[in-house]
Amino acid sequence: MNPSLLGPLPGFCWRLTVAAIALAGLAVLAADAGAQAQEQESDEPLPHVRVVATGGTIAGRAQSAEAGAGYESGALPIEELLVDLPGLDRIAEVTAEQFANLPSTGVSPTHWLVLAQRLNEILRDGVDGRQVDGIVVTHGTDALEETAYFLDLTVRSDKPVVVVGAMRPPGTVSADGPINLIRAIQTAGAQPSRQRGTLVVLNEEIHDARDATKTNTHSVETFRSRSWGPLGNVDRGGVHYYRRAEKRDGARSEFDVTGKTPEDLPRVDVLYSYNGADGAGARGFAEAGAVGLVVAGSGGGGTSRELGEVLRELAESGLWLVRTSRTGSGSVGGWGRGTYVGADDLLPQKARILLMVALMSTQEADEIQRIFREY
Ligand code: ASP
Repeated sequence: MNPSLLGPLPGFCWRLTVAAIALAGLAVLAADAGAQAQEQESDEPLPHVRVVATGGTIAGRAQSAEAGAGYESGALPIEELLVDLPGLDRIAEVTAEQFANLPSTGVSPTHWLVLAQRLNEILRDGVDGRQVDGIVVTHGTDALEETAYFLDLTVRSDKPVVVVGAMRPPGTVSADGPINLIRAIQTAGAQPSRQRGTLVVLNEEIHDARDATKTNTHSVETFRSRSWGPLGNVDRGGVHYYRRAEKRDGARSEFDVTGKTPEDLPRVDVLYSYNGADGAGARGFAEAGAVGLVVAGSGGGGTSRELGEVLRELAESGLWLVRTSRTGSGSVGGWGRGTYVGADDLLPQKARILLMVALMSTQEADEIQRIFREY
């Protein structure tokens, strides 16, 4: 997990084996992407984008080039992913480091914390004596939205952090990693990406990290921001934004993780409500040491009667309860109702992260409720 600094990439390491037609197609796309970026920014010095790699399908090793072939997630080093990106040298000066090489379900809250500390350091101090204009984090898509939201809350900089992944591993037909990586680097290096906290870029769409969620098991257009839609898009014509997210993040966040250790991260679990749920799961989490529970309730956040009774009892003994909805969109209230904090429209897995981060800085109920309104 200790970041190994790799420095500027060599001009040529070795090439990935890909089907010739797919490679030619990608080369044309990527060269075009580079040419467009050059046209737009020809008088400007190229931005310095630091790529911090954590693994995922984007760094996967496939068993064959066949569509849907089996693969190992988080296998290839970042230098190999960057070396075959035609036109990249006209978009940005890219340096890279390997933070980890894991499937995204192997990324833990401890990784989030150490990664956030590392990214704050890079954006503040630069690397090897050079300032960094933006960061790209490569990541597995399954849990990408969790890491992205943690970074959104805890990387306190105006400079962009862009989290990117891929649905198809390198070397398979129509692999999306190379184009996603190019677009993420373009986005991270673009001036209009500043003051937007952490972004998620896949399939040429730019999403706010708070709202982005994986919605499809296999499609390359899996990331969506449900009710609100993407912030913008990035294509061969450049980086385009059409709206600004209102919630606090990035430099506007109050959450400073400097000096925090994994022991400072409180245990918060997510509990799904369904008819007939009797509260055994809630008691189990409390016994395992949870200090907070995010409840994914039905509809507007309701729970089965039996579960509701157990939760009230646990809340009286000091457990934090946050109410969300299992519907996947829409807001959930609860402010001022005592037992629960309402998570607004945060998805359960995001509300969990906000409660973890909030509890590292306050234990006041009013403050927790304010935080859920503002973030
Ligand atoms: N299993 C992979 C992961 O999340 C899936 C992906 O990256 O798309 O690491």
